[in-house]
Amino acid sequence: MKKIVVLGGGGFIGGHLAKKLKEQGNHVRICDLKKHEYFFQDEICDEFIVGNLTDPNVVKLVIEEDIDEVYQLAADMGGAMYIFTGQHDADVMHNSATINLNVAKECVIKKVKKIFYSSSACMYPEHNQLDPLNPNCEESSAYPANPDSEYGWEKLFSERLYLAFQKNYGLDVKIARFHNIYGPQGTWTGGREKAPAAMCRKVAESKDGDEIEVWGDGNQTRSFLYVDECVRAILELMDSNFSGPVNIGSEEMVTINNLAEIAIALSGKNLTIKNLQGDDFIQKYGFKCPLGVNGRNSDNKLYREKIGSNVSFPLDIGMKLTYNWIKSEVDNIETKTKWIYESPDGQEIFKRKPGEVERIKIK
Ligand code: NAD
Repeated sequence: MKKIVVLGGGGFIGGHLAKKLKEQGNHVRICDLKKHEYFFQDEICDEFIVGNLTDPNVVKLVIEEDIDEVYQLAADMGGAMYIFTGQHDADVMHNSATINLNVAKECVIKKVKKIFYSSSACMYPEHNQLDPLNPNCEESSAYPANPDSEYGWEKLFSERLYLAFQKNYGLDVKIARFHNIYGPQGTWTGGREKAPAAMCRKVAESKDGDEIEVWGDGNQTRSFLYVDECVRAILELMDSNFSGPVNIGSEEMVTINNLAEIAIALSGKNLTIKNLQGDDFIQKYGFKCPLGVNGRNSDNKLYREKIGSNVSFPLDIGMKLTYNWIKSEVDNIETKTKWIYESPDGQEIFKRKPGEVERIKIK
C-alpha cells in the first residue's frame, strides 16, 4: 500500500484517478478547494483536505514526509469560454503557477518519491495547428514556443519548473500533456465545461426540431480521450522509467461538428446544427468567439515507443457513456425544478433563472 496525495482530486480527472488509486488499495489523501460534486468522498479517498494550494502552509500540511507519490492535477482552468476569452488570464497564470511553485519545492523538502504533473496540449505552438487536417502535436514540436493561450504558457512554464527540480534536486517527475479528456462525473454546465460535455448537455436539453449551437464553422478538429483510458495511461507512465513530457490523448481526430453529430445520433432526436461565428457571435455574446487553434490531434508515437502500449478508446462508446450520464443529470435537475409556468396544452414548461426565462423540460 502506497501513501498517495492527489491534488485537485475534487475535480474531474483527479476524482477518477483518486478513485482508481483507492480501489488498488492505496491510502489516498486529496486536497482541493472543493469537495467532489459527483462522487462520494469515501469512494475516492481516505482523507479529504479542503484547502487552497496557492497557500504554502496548506501545501506543507498536505505533503508530509512519508508520502510515496503526489499527483498534481490542481489548476485554475475550464473550457473555451474560460480559457480563450482572455477574461481570466491573470488568475489562470497566477493561481496555477503559484500552486506548482509551492508543490515542486515541498516535494523536494519532504523527499516525495515520485510526482506526476498534468500539463496540456494547449502548450503546443499555434503555428503548428493552423491546418485543421494536418496539426503537428509531436512532443518535440513544443519549441520555439507559441501557445495560443496564457493557460498554455503557464503549463509550459510549470513543465520546465518540474524538470528543473528534477535536474537540480533529483525530483522524480512524470509529465503528461493531456488532450481533451472527457467522461462522466465532469463539469457539464456553468461555463467551465469542455466541448463533449457541452454538446451532450445541449442535445439532452433539446427537443425534436431544435437547433444545436456549435461555435465556429464546425470544421476545427480535435481528439477526445475517455477519462478511464487517461487514468490507465497516467498509472502506466508513473510505473515506467520515462519522465516525459509525453502526450496522453486519442489519435481519433474529428471535427467539432462531427462531435455534435455523435451526440445527436446518441439521443435519437431530430436536431440540426447551427454554427455561430464572427459578428453573429459577437452580437449574441458581446465578445469574440473563443475557439482555440484550428486543428489538434494527439500524436502517440512517443508514448508507444517509451511506454510500450497504445492509448485509445472509441469516441462513440465514450460519448455514449458521457451522454447517458449528462442526460441523467439534466433530467434530475428537471425533477428538482420548481415550475413557474406551464403552457395551456401542457406541452411546454418554463423555469425562471436570474434575468431570463428558459424552457428546459421537453416531452
Ligand atoms: P478540474 O477543473 O475538474 O480539476 C481541477 C481541480 O483543481 C478543481 O477541482 C479545482 O477546484 C482544483 N483547484 C483549482 N485551484 C485550486 C487551488 N488553488 N487549491 C486547491 N485546488 C484547486 O479539471 P480537470 O479536467 O480534472 O483537469 C485536471 C488537470 O488536467 C488540470 O491541471 C488541467 O489543466 C489538466 N488538463 C485537463 C484537460 C482536460 O481535457 N480535462 C486537458 C489538458 C490538461
